[in-house]
Amino acid sequence: MPLPFAIMTTPSFDLGQDHLDLQQWVRQFAVDVVRPAAAEWDEKEEFPWPVLEEAAKIGLYSVDFFATQSFDETGLGIPITMEELFWGDAGIGLAIVGTTLAAASVAATGTESQVGEWVPQMFGSPGDLKIAAFCSSEPDAGSDVGAMRTRATYDEASDEWVLNGTKTWATNGGIADIHVITAVVDPELKARGQASFVIPSGTRGLSQGQKFAKHGIRASHTAEVVLDDCRIPGSCLLGGKEKLDERLAKARALRDASSSGTGGGTRSQPSMATFERTRPAVGAQAVGIARAAYDYALEYAKDRVQFGRPIIENQAIAFTLADMKTSIDAARLLVWRAAWMASQGKKFEAAEGSMSKLFAGETAIKVTGDAMQILGGNGFTREYPVERMARDARIYTIFEGTSEIQRLVIARTISGMQIR
Ligand SMILES: Cc1cc2nc3c(=O)[nH]c(=O)nc-3n(C[C@H](O)[C@H](O)[C@H](O)COP(=O)(O)OP(=O)(O)OC[C@H]3O[C@@H](n4cnc5c(N)ncnc54)[C@H](O)[C@@H]3O)c2cc1C
Repeated sequence: MPLPFAIMTTPSFDLGQDHLDLQQWVRQFAVDVVRPAAAEWDEKEEFPWPVLEEAAKIGLYSVDFFATQSFDETGLGIPITMEELFWGDAGIGLAIVGTTLAAASVAATGTESQVGEWVPQMFGSPGDLKIAAFCSSEPDAGSDVGAMRTRATYDEASDEWVLNGTKTWATNGGIADIHVITAVVDPELKARGQASFVIPSGTRGLSQGQKFAKHGIRASHTAEVVLDDCRIPGSCLLGGKEKLDERLAKARALRDASSSGTGGGTRSQPSMATFERTRPAVGAQAVGIARAAYDYALEYAKDRVQFGRPIIENQAIAFTLADMKTSIDAARLLVWRAAWMASQGKKFEAAEGSMSKLFAGETAIKVTGDAMQILGGNGFTREYPVERMARDARIYTIFEGTSEIQRLVIARTISGMQIR
C-alpha cells in the first residue's frame, strides 16, 4: 500500500550565508561601537548623534539598508539586524532604528512616489544625518487609538491640510526632520476616519512639547509633539486624497449597514497597518536585550565563587540559566516565524505577529530580571550592564501595543469573539 504522501524535504533552521554575513556585520558594529558607548549615553539621556554618524558611515543607518532589508524575501534580515544591534544596547539601538518606524509607515500607507520622495529624506547621508518620528499616541489615546483627537481638516481653496492636536510619547518627536502624524479626518468614523500625513522639515506649527525623562532606553529621545495650525500641502496625505475618499466612503457604507460598525475592527486604520509590519521587529529587539543579559549572567555565574565553587554549580543558578536560554530561543523562533509570514504575505490566523512581540517582550523582562538576580549585589549597581538591560527591557511590554493589548488581539483572532 503506497503511503499517501511523497518524501518531504526537511525544512532548515540554518541561516544562509547572506544572513550569517549580515549577522556578523551588525554584531561587529555592536561590539566595536555600540557597547562601548552604551553606559555614557544612558547616563547622559541624550540622543547619541556620534553613534548614529558611525552607523551611517558603514551604511547601517541608510535608506539603502532599510530598503534592502524590507525586500528580503525571507523576512529574516530585519529581525537579525535588530537582535544584534539591541544586544549591543537598546537605547542606542532605538536611536538608530527609530526612523524605520516612520519609514515603515510611509511604505505601508504611501504611494510609490511618496515612498520615493520621503523615505530618503528621513535618513539623510553621512555628515548630513536626518531622522524621522512616527506619532500616533496621544495623552488620551494610547492603547485606544480610536480615541485620537488630533484633527486634520482639508482646505480645498489652497489644497492644504491643517493639523491641530498633541501627540505624545513620540520616539524622535520634535527633533526629527520628518514627522509622520496620524490624525482624524472624520470623527464620526472613529478609528476608520483616520489618515497619516508627512510633515516636512521646517514646517511652521509643529513644535516639541515635553521631553520625557525615562526609566530605560534613555539614549532614545521621547517627547510630545504639538501641532498648532500646522499647514501642509495636500500631497503630504499618505496614499493620496482619492484613495482616502474611497476608504472613507467604504467605512461610511459599513457604518450605515451595521450600527456597531465603528467599534473594535480597525483593519483599515493606518496605525494598525504600521504596527502589523513592525511587531516582529520589535520582538527581535527584545530578544537582543534578553540575549545580552543572558550572555553576561552565564559568564558571571562561571566566574563568581561562593562556598568554594562557581555559583553555576548550584542547580538553582544553572537551571535559571537553562530556562533563560530556552525562552530566548523560543522567542526568537516566534519572531522569525512571524517575520517570515509577513514577508510571504501569509495571513496571521492566530495573530502570530502579536504573539511574537508578546512572548519576546515578556521574555526580555523575565530574563533580565533573572540576570540581575544571578549577579547578586553587582546586578543592582550601574557598574554592571544588566541593571541597564533590565531597565531597557521594561518598555517591551508597553510600547507598540502593551502585553494586554497583544493578548486581546490574539484572543480575538483565535476565538472570533468580541473579547473585552
Ligand atoms: C519610550 C516610549 C516610546 C514610544 N514611542 C512611540 C512612538 O514612537 N510613536 C507612538 O505613536 N507611540 C509611542 N509610544 C506610545 C506607546 O505605544 C503607548 O505608551 C502604548 O501604546 C500604551 O498606551 P498608554 O501609555 O496610553 O497606556 P494605556 O493605553 O493608558 O494603558 C494603561 C494600562 O491599561 C491597559 N489596558 C488598556 N486598555 C486595555 C484593555 N482593553 N484591556 C486590558 N488592558 C488594557 C494597558 O495594557 C496598560 O497596562 C511610546 C511609548 C514609550 C513609553
